Amino acid sequence: MMKKECSIVQDVLPLYLENMVSESTKVFVEEHLESCSDCATELKYLKSGMHIDVAETPTREHAVDVITAIKKKISKRILKAVTAVCLVFAVLLGAVLLYTGIGHPVTKDNISLSTKTDGGYTYIILETEAGKSLYFDSKTEDILNNQNEVCGQVITLYNLQYHNNFTRSTNSMKWGSPVGIESNYLEVVVELENDTLQISSCE
Ligand SMILES: [Zn+2]
Repeated sequence: MMKKECSIVQDVLPLYLENMVSESTKVFVEEHLESCSDCATELKYLKSGMHIDVAETPTREHAVDVITAIKKKISKRILKAVTAVCLVFAVLLGAVLLYTGIGHPVTKDNISLSTKTDGGYTYIILETEAGKSLYFDSKTEDILNNQNEVCGQVITLYNLQYHNNFTRSTNSMKWGSPVGIESNYLEVVVELENDTLQISSCE
């Protein structure tokens, strides 16, 4: 508890700091400060520009500390949670990109060739397994007969790769030629690493 003298000294401390006290008050204050650490502390606070009532200092500082600590803890937790969620998303995204982004060599087990006649056209159909997208380069060449006339076309697919794909249930493409017109003979050749698959519209 503050002594009566302390109360008087602390009242005049601001004036004392500004040199606005009489000589006798100055002497009184300085004598008190020498023997009273509470008031000396108060003077220090005043000098540093943060005037806090000495008596209330401990609890107030404690309260502020606790609130600050809780705030820090909460923001740290939020930061940790956000970081964790971001990390999980990054890993998932990475896994998806790895799964779908890498091209795999195509074997004859990955694709099938078939023909189908429908509406006056014969189609050559190339199908890939569900969940796979096919990538390839292709070239088309005319087939010439003995008289050097174009009698059909060969479509060659090469550099085949498949990518995993979450959305594609089936992947098919087709080439069509009118039925019964010999010059529209169509042949699809698929060049794989170890196999060559071949199909024509006459099959
Ligand atoms: Zn005092």
